[in-house]
Amino acid sequence: MTKKKTREKKKSQGSKRWEIYEISGDRIRKKNKTCPKCGDGIFMARHHDRDTCGKCSYTEFRKK
Ligand SMILES: [Zn+2]
Repeated sequence: MTKKKTREKKKSQGSKRWEIYEISGDRIRKKNKTCPKCGDGIFMARHHDRDTCGKCSYTEFRKK
């Protein structure tokens, strides 16, 4: 086993974008949905019952 454990806590410089990523194992999952209108990279804000894109105001209601 030559698994390197490099879990340094690096403070991302100015990019809060990483907060929406969740690293589980060696996979990176996106926590938030991406806007289908704006495309990849534009994430939607989560609300209790809907997701809203801050860029184009696209709103997608979530089913319970
Ligand atoms: Zn959008």
